[in-house]
Amino acid sequence: MSTIETVRGPVNVTDLGPTLAHEHVILSTAEFAKFYPELSWNGDRQGVVESVVEQLQAVRDRGITTILDCTAYFHGRDMDFVQEVNERVDINLIMSTGIYTYDFLPYPIAYRFPTSVEDDVLTKMFLRDLTVGIGDSGVKAQSIKVATDTAGFTDNNKRILRAAGRASVETGAPITAHTHPADHQAPELLDILTKQGVDLSKVVVAHSGDTTDLDYLRAIMDRGAIMGNDRFGLYMPGVATEDERVDVLATLCADGYADRIVLAHDSLLYSDWTEPGFVGQDISVDTWVPTHISDVVLPKLRDRGVAESDIEKMMVSAPASLFSSIAS
Ligand SMILES: [Zn+2]
Repeated sequence: MSTIETVRGPVNVTDLGPTLAHEHVILSTAEFAKFYPELSWNGDRQGVVESVVEQLQAVRDRGITTILDCTAYFHGRDMDFVQEVNERVDINLIMSTGIYTYDFLPYPIAYRFPTSVEDDVLTKMFLRDLTVGIGDSGVKAQSIKVATDTAGFTDNNKRILRAAGRASVETGAPITAHTHPADHQAPELLDILTKQGVDLSKVVVAHSGDTTDLDYLRAIMDRGAIMGNDRFGLYMPGVATEDERVDVLATLCADGYADRIVLAHDSLLYSDWTEPGFVGQDISVDTWVPTHISDVVLPKLRDRGVAESDIEKMMVSAPASLFSSIAS
C-alpha cells in the first residue's frame, strides 16, 4: 500500500477519503509580507489564521478529509502558516511544488540558468521539494503545479512543462496543469508531457470544467488524463455556469468517465492578491467558498441522477489514484 506525505506526516493513499483536488490554503507574497505586513495581512495575521482555521474546519465538518493544495512557487507558499493552521484542524493537506507563471521566469532562473538542458534547474527545484521537502518545513511536496494560459505554449512555458514532466517521471508525483480551456490546450499539453514519458493518468488538466465542450473533455479522458472540474463556485464571465457544469458532469458520469474526474473550487482561503471579499468584477464571492461542492453541487448532482458510486469515484478514488505511484 503506498503512502504519501501530508503536512502532518505520512498517510496511506487508501485512507485519504473525500478529497478536494485543487484548493489554496494561502497565497502570501514573501517580500510584501516581510516589508509591508500591515498591507499583506490587513494588519492582523492572527485574524487570518483564525479565518483559515474556520474555513478548513467547515470543510472537515462536511466530511472532506483531504485537500490537495495546488499552491506553487510564485503563488507565495507559506509553510509556517500552513503548518500552524493544520495543527488545529484534523484534515490532510497535500502540498505542491512547481511554478505558477504563464511565461515569465524568475530572474535567477532566466539569467543564471538560462538554458533548458537535461538537468534543468527547474527540475532540480521540483525534485528538492518532492524528495527533501519544501524549504526547512520537513514537508515534502507530493504534486507538481504548472500553468499555461492565454499566452499559450511559449518557450519558457514549454521548458517548465518539460521540467515538471521529468520530475513526475522520476518521482511518480502527479501534475496539475492550469489551462485556458477556451483555447483547447489539452492536446498540445498532453503531447509535451507524453514526450517526457509522463503517465497521463497522473495528469490533471485543470480548469477543464470552465468549458462545456464535451468532445474536448472526452478527448482528454480518452487519452487517460484526468479532467479537473475544479472551479465550482468561481464563475467568471464567459465560462460555464454552475448548472452547465452540473449537466456536463451528469453526462460524463453517464458515459462512464467518473473515474477520470476530480472536483474542487480553486478557492483561496487567504490571499494577499485581493482585498478580502473581492475576487474580481462580476464574480460572486457567495458561491466561491470551499464548502460549495458539499453544500450545493453534490446535491445538484444527485438530483440530476448521478449515482452515489460515481460521486465516490470523483471525490475519493480518482483523486487517490493520482498518488498511486508516488515514491515517498
Ligand atoms: Zn489554482
